[in-house]
Amino acid sequence: QLYLDRIARLNPDLNAYITVDAERSLAAAKAADARRAAGNAHALTGVPLAQKDIFCAEGWRTTCGSKMLETFVSPYDAHVVTRLEKDAGMVSLGKTNMDEFAMGSSNETSYYGPVQNPWDRSRVPGGSSGGSAAAVAARLAPIATGTDTGGSIRQPAALCNLTGLKPTYGVVSRWGMIAFASSLDQAGPMGKSAEDCALLLSAMAGFDPKDSTSLERPVEDYARDLEQPLAGLKIGLPKEFFADGMDADVAKAVDEAIAEYRKLGAEIVEVSLPNMKLSVPAYYVIAPAEASSNLSRFDGVRYGHRAAEYTDLTSLYKKSRAEGFGAEVKRRILIGTYVLSHGYYDAYYLQAQKVRRLIAQDFAAAFAQCDVILGPTSPDVAFRAGEKAADPVQMYLSDIYTIAVNLAGLPGMSLPCGFAQRDGKRLPVGLQLIGDYFSEARLLNVAHQYQ
Ligand code: GLN
Repeated sequence: QLYLDRIARLNPDLNAYITVDAERSLAAAKAADARRAAGNAHALTGVPLAQKDIFCAEGWRTTCGSKMLETFVSPYDAHVVTRLEKDAGMVSLGKTNMDEFAMGSSNETSYYGPVQNPWDRSRVPGGSSGGSAAAVAARLAPIATGTDTGGSIRQPAALCNLTGLKPTYGVVSRWGMIAFASSLDQAGPMGKSAEDCALLLSAMAGFDPKDSTSLERPVEDYARDLEQPLAGLKIGLPKEFFADGMDADVAKAVDEAIAEYRKLGAEIVEVSLPNMKLSVPAYYVIAPAEASSNLSRFDGVRYGHRAAEYTDLTSLYKKSRAEGFGAEVKRRILIGTYVLSHGYYDAYYLQAQKVRRLIAQDFAAAFAQCDVILGPTSPDVAFRAGEKAADPVQMYLSDIYTIAVNLAGLPGMSLPCGFAQRDGKRLPVGLQLIGDYFSEARLLNVAHQYQ
């Protein structure tokens, strides 16, 4: 009730949630109480949760930030929803705002309007999980789910002073999570601390036969290493991260974090990721290619927006899609269709896939020299609403530090590392930690020791 009251008071401005259903949430809270009373509670039973509106949840409107799904009520639960709400007994407070189909870095492409950053409401919360980030930052939820295809958990976490983790690809099931770029998409936790994220991830992760890329591995307790001392830890600083393009205040905050890690007993080594600079161009070929294919299912026939007037089947498709998708989604569909088309496939898509392999090899070489890689999450603090909206290339470049992680399928996280002053306001800076495959518990340990 406390969170529902805060949502009722603050969400009309912040716009962090697209859908709230107080009655449903309170009923779930009552059921959680009953479960506690019966003595079969999970550690998270009854804990309120904000769910990114990319997860299908039975009986809940699930929009994915798009007009296309404005009236879509999911008939089934995503695996993540089953794990958190049914198995663990967490209480969903509602569905959070996001960039349309998770395409964006500022939450400005949402059909349901932009989200304000609680630290400075004239600035963006980041994206695409900006609604989840704003909800936790403004205490409209204690913790939230997000998804990360190219930075969408880590960058909004950085811009809103949260901790967020993108797991190794395949650790969390994608079943029921509306697909953007299937080979990159991965769900993860966003919370106030590494400890909170460890608890949520432990409840979210696990093999699911319904997702063909879900990995069959034993269930892990991601909180198990939180208290491990860091003595002997080798932290790699990729020289390409510290070249130009980083804001001076961000650089200063990251340097201070490095000094702190030295004090905690870590050894700092320089590493190199020579193909880093190719990650943004490769991503913006691969992600739109997969998106153009994934979004072909929205045709106005089975579900989603259907144009009121049409003459034949082709006109039904065309009009429904023209009306249902926003400008950024259309741009991605156009790029994706182009790079996959006969004659361009080898020149763009195949090249991008080769670059993707090179990037993964760069990381493998770096992890032969260090345990974790450290750098900034985002080149700057939260930017002003509208500042980059008209220039897609500027917007895409803000993903420079996060995207390579998804191309390689590695786990990565962002944690708070101080503030920069802008217009008399304090704006959070995010520190990024990247680990080798399945090193989530180690990353959470490294973050927790700093926090
Ligand atoms: N900003 C990136 C994009 O627009 C990443 C988004 C994401 O991770 N979902 O594609």
